[in-house]
Amino acid sequence: MVGQAPPYHLAEEVANQAFNMVEKLIISISGVRGIVGENLTPSIAADYGSAFGTFLKKSHSGGKKKLSVCIGRDSRDSGQTLKSSVAGGLCGVGIDVVDLGLVTTPSVAIMVKELGCSGGVIITASHNPVQYNGIKLLLSNSIAPSPDKAERVKQYFIDKDFAYVDSTNCGKITSNEQADTNHIKRILSIVDKEVISAKKFKVALDSVNGAGGRITKKLLSELGCKVSAINDEPTGLFAHTPEPTRENVKELCDVVKTNRTDIGFAQDPDADRLAIVDEAGTYIGEEYTLVLAAKYIFDKKAGKAATNLSTSRMINDIVDKAGGKVIRTAVGEANVAQAMLENNCVIGGEGNGGVIDLRVSPVRDSLVGIALVLQLMAETGKSITQLVSEIGSYYMTKNKFNAESGQARKILDLAKKTFSDAKLDTTDGCRFDFNDGWLHLRTSNTEPVMRIMVEAKDQQAAQKYIDAVATICTKVLDHQ
Ligand code: MG
Repeated sequence: MVGQAPPYHLAEEVANQAFNMVEKLIISISGVRGIVGENLTPSIAADYGSAFGTFLKKSHSGGKKKLSVCIGRDSRDSGQTLKSSVAGGLCGVGIDVVDLGLVTTPSVAIMVKELGCSGGVIITASHNPVQYNGIKLLLSNSIAPSPDKAERVKQYFIDKDFAYVDSTNCGKITSNEQADTNHIKRILSIVDKEVISAKKFKVALDSVNGAGGRITKKLLSELGCKVSAINDEPTGLFAHTPEPTRENVKELCDVVKTNRTDIGFAQDPDADRLAIVDEAGTYIGEEYTLVLAAKYIFDKKAGKAATNLSTSRMINDIVDKAGGKVIRTAVGEANVAQAMLENNCVIGGEGNGGVIDLRVSPVRDSLVGIALVLQLMAETGKSITQLVSEIGSYYMTKNKFNAESGQARKILDLAKKTFSDAKLDTTDGCRFDFNDGWLHLRTSNTEPVMRIMVEAKDQQAAQKYIDAVATICTKVLDHQ
């Protein structure tokens, strides 16, 4: 299987360029991301806070109530500095700030609703290495801004067009330490605590010294689990490359085997993604996280699920069997969350281990994944190995290659001709569905590259599609 290259090459390249720092930050719909001290500095963070605050004020003009934003950070050392800077930028335009401290990304989403805030900010670079950090934005519905709204925030930021207030109208900063409690309460409301507790599950947990350790241990304790936790201190000193992929969670696999636990859970630093290790100590792959959660939901009732076009077909197998429907969206958490709200979906998420249950929040949440999977195990009495074998498997490969926008367009056009017999979805690049698999070709939102995902019933079937795309790419990229 071809490994996926880390998504931060562009940032590394541009960090070496000494001009026009603002332009070289990665600014996307979910916020900004950069290298601390190089292109992500306290002044940039303050400006971004002011830009977001200005956007909120202009969006809520006419309202009498003073606006507030809650803010949290993952465990990176740089988080404290950037959080203070963003908070200062927000207060400077007259927005009150509620400081949630060191919390998970989904905890912030829950507190936005709980506190009736107009927005939320999370200081996190998710699974990227420690030298990175980012500023992620949520609106009052706990979803990232839509592309047009994100563009307005970006414009205020680039133009330094800030609605600063005078000394009597600055925002105030208060602290709130209720995020863990509220988050756990929401999680416990979607599962049967007694049923899970009765099983006395042994659980291994790797929180990569991110924000997830403290709250996840509390949740597992509430669920009567005996926990073998590693890397559970929020030091921000990541014990391994933080993305919870197969090659990075070997220590967790060993803990599962040594301590004979029923399951192993691996989180990323802001705890919105979850990977699972079965009771034999085998990493089963992040694609199974959403599928197992969906299996629990759809074993009970039919309904709709939403996921992006690059996520495994396994979820269709589960949902189709229950008489439900899968809605496919463009890649990006906000797109999935929006589709879930519009279609009243009972579950959703992405194949990178991100599970969304709207009863908790519209944000990917590793704690939701943990709770639903434990409930599934408790109710069925089956092990993860058994559950995974019932679901079945496909061969999936992910890759990316350099392509400028003109080349990408030509590749997509040629692919449409080559795969004219397939069912085509052009919501985000081109997804071609065949009887024995599918192929998704799309351009990246942050880099001049194309991503290719192929899934088929076996490697041989997948190779047929990979080879066909390689032929198309050779034609386009070699004849410029
Ligand atoms: Mg994350």
